[in-house]
Amino acid sequence: MITKKTAGVSTLAQEFNLLVDEPLKKYTSFNIGGPADLLALPKDKLELKNLLKKALDLNIPVTLFGGGTNILITDKGVRGLVIITKCLKSKIQILESGLHGKTIYVQAGDRLSRVYQFAIAHSLSGIEFAAGIPGTVGGAIMMNAGTKSRDISDIIKSIDVLNRLTLETETIEKRDLDFSYRRINVSGIILAAKFSLVKANQEKIKKTFEQNLNQKNASQPVSFASAGCFFKNPIQGKSAGELIEKAGLKGMRINDAMVSQKHANFIVNTNHASCEDILLLKQHIEKTVFEKFQIKLQTEVRIEGE
Ligand SMILES: Cc1cc2nc3c(=O)[nH]c(=O)nc-3n(C[C@H](O)[C@H](O)[C@H](O)COP(=O)(O)OP(=O)(O)OC[C@H]3O[C@@H](n4cnc5c(N)ncnc54)[C@H](O)[C@@H]3O)c2cc1C
Repeated sequence: MITKKTAGVSTLAQEFNLLVDEPLKKYTSFNIGGPADLLALPKDKLELKNLLKKALDLNIPVTLFGGGTNILITDKGVRGLVIITKCLKSKIQILESGLHGKTIYVQAGDRLSRVYQFAIAHSLSGIEFAAGIPGTVGGAIMMNAGTKSRDISDIIKSIDVLNRLTLETETIEKRDLDFSYRRINVSGIILAAKFSLVKANQEKIKKTFEQNLNQKNASQPVSFASAGCFFKNPIQGKSAGELIEKAGLKGMRINDAMVSQKHANFIVNTNHASCEDILLLKQHIEKTVFEKFQIKLQTEVRIEGE
């Protein structure tokens, strides 16, 4: 297949020894999606910058993933270069220690689960809400991941962002960030973040964490392939899950794509669902919910590819 690709793609592949026509399904929690023309998993900032510079020079489009837990890839896959940031990680550092809390510094590729395990081990509270949320720190910040009680924005102090064009790194303080429900106003690549956590009793932190985790496992279909909640909750009124359930769609299937029986806002891949199956089910849900409640559901999952 590489023979059909542009000279630029072949040059980049050879120069950086990249994966070619790599199936993306194995990099996503949905386990769905066609190939990336090129795939890179840079291990540090320098490698990432060099890749971006060359891709810019060769005019090759770049798509970014973290843990791939909030992404649906089309069946044809993604053209150009896919960069997965999950290898951009190092030891979590404690930067400042105050009377009441600590600031920790975490790389974007670190898993969120590593951060809350670190917090528990150091008797630091603030991130218990994230129990069971998969994916990386970068993805969590980009999605302003959270639950009913808190979002990741509640603990952010600042983030380090790589500008995709100038390739300069900038530290952006929280006051200059504009977070809202499952979004943030950042266009660059998140490299790292500082989180403010407060000192607390370790047993109490553990207990809250475990309660949150148990509640998540009891209410969400965590053993199925999915990308988490598929739709955003409307600003007012019933949640997306309640609307879908009340529209009688729990268990509705299109081939191997199914509305979860456990939580109606999860579309799950029960075996070999294609992206097309998921998108057809998505359309059916949107249409049915609109006809019943005159509410337009907005997609939370990011759809990538051609
Ligand atoms: C079983 C399950 C349960 C879930 N529960 C929750 C929940 O309770 N709450 C919740 O909010 N979410 C939940 N999710 C969704 C998902 O886990 C979160 O949105 C997560 O934070 C995404 O992180 P990620 O690294 O996987 O991001 P990805 O899916 O890889 O990417 C998401 C977006 O972020 C961008 N991105 C990724 N890394 C970077 C970076 N370094 N710099 C700039 N942009 C970047 C990508 O381009 C993409 O647009 C759940 C998902 C699953 C599968």
